[in-house]
Amino acid sequence: MKSVAIIGAGISGLYLANLFKGNKNYKVTIYEKKDSVEINEGYGIQLSVNSVKLLNQIGFNSLTDEEKFHPKKIDFYDLKNSKKICDLEISKFNLENCKYTALKRSKLLQFLVDGLGNEIIKYNYSINQIEYGKNTTNLTFDNGDKKTCDYLIISDGVFSKGKSLISANNSNAIYNNSIAIRGNISKENLQKISDENVSLFLGSDFHYVVYPLDKEENLNFIGILKYKLNPNEQKNHKLFGENNFIENIKNKLSQKIPLRIFEKIQNIKLFPVFVSKNFFKPPNNTFLVGDAFFAFSPSFAQGASQSIEGAHELYESILNNNNFFNIRSKRIKMINRRSNFNQFAFHLSNPIMTFLRNILMKYLVKNKNFLENYLGKIYKN
Ligand SMILES: Cc1cc2nc3c(=O)[nH]c(=O)nc-3n(C[C@H](O)[C@H](O)[C@H](O)COP(=O)(O)OP(=O)(O)OC[C@H]3O[C@@H](n4cnc5c(N)ncnc54)[C@H](O)[C@@H]3O)c2cc1C
Repeated sequence: MKSVAIIGAGISGLYLANLFKGNKNYKVTIYEKKDSVEINEGYGIQLSVNSVKLLNQIGFNSLTDEEKFHPKKIDFYDLKNSKKICDLEISKFNLENCKYTALKRSKLLQFLVDGLGNEIIKYNYSINQIEYGKNTTNLTFDNGDKKTCDYLIISDGVFSKGKSLISANNSNAIYNNSIAIRGNISKENLQKISDENVSLFLGSDFHYVVYPLDKEENLNFIGILKYKLNPNEQKNHKLFGENNFIENIKNKLSQKIPLRIFEKIQNIKLFPVFVSKNFFKPPNNTFLVGDAFFAFSPSFAQGASQSIEGAHELYESILNNNNFFNIRSKRIKMINRRSNFNQFAFHLSNPIMTFLRNILMKYLVKNKNFLENYLGKIYKN
């Protein structure tokens, strides 16, 4: 039996462990630095059909319709005048029992944790050192414990400590000049939008998305604001908890979003958006997956879906000895280009450019060839 050590109990690590758990040729353990998986928060996540299909293989379709939401369309609005630009029928890509899904991130994590027994996740294990022996990999954790494994899978997120240990800090993520704002807002405060759809508001250097998470009244709010941080601010891990900074961002937001809406957003949390600048190929029998493999801007809502897809690909590669790194980097490059393009188009400021963008969007969202090429290539993996 081969031993598999996974660093980090995020979406990718948990999904991968669920796959290995069903295979008696492998013994899988997750080492997680925190003392639990965060399953209390109410923020949302979107999953496109490519990842829902893979989640269904481990029983995701057993979640009830009360616990999730399947949007029919994405409605695009111009934030300047709140007028609808066009809509894109996202449900076109749905299959029987496999639909574009939005749900609480905590629900997804709880589902993934429930699939593993108590023994598989070891909490309070933060990776500190990775050394390569003749046939095995030796791990040392902050708590002093040492472990060995046949396969090492690093899935500790965008600020991957595991990756910095083996790449000599050569592959660290960079600040994407944008801040993510997460929150919740009640349906009654957004009367104009359809609660059957995802609503995407495009503004100058800013866009936000709202969507239901389940059958409850609360909608998920996620905004991306272009915002420069100087190098010292980028290194200051306490900045996003400082009142002055939070108030400054809220003030900026209140100029972008109509006040009647802005004032109703609850549980606002701010995050700096960091993205990968390059790929790093680890030594034999060590693999990166999820945001540790590559993190892109959240403008295509593919981070979690790609974490799941990558974990599935990695599982198949270990079983069949395929070239995981080449296959994954090719696909990630394609998605990264689209994410960057989306962010650019969503944040246009120049009135002539936004006018032209809106005309083009009206045409493209109804154009079959474009949809198949731009979305189909990702959703129909
Ligand atoms: C604001 C925002 C909104 C998003 N919305 C969406 C969306 O709607 N749809 C979508 O598909 N994606 C979305 N994403 C992206 C998505 O959340 C991520 O891509 C995804 O969670 C990455 O999963 P992961 O398993 O790679 O890492 P993570 O989920 O970050 O998990 C990493 C885990 O590793 C642990 N860890 C860290 N360091 C160590 C260490 N040294 N030792 C041991 N363990 C460690 C952490 O505690 C954590 O549990 C969003 C991202 C952001 C920032």
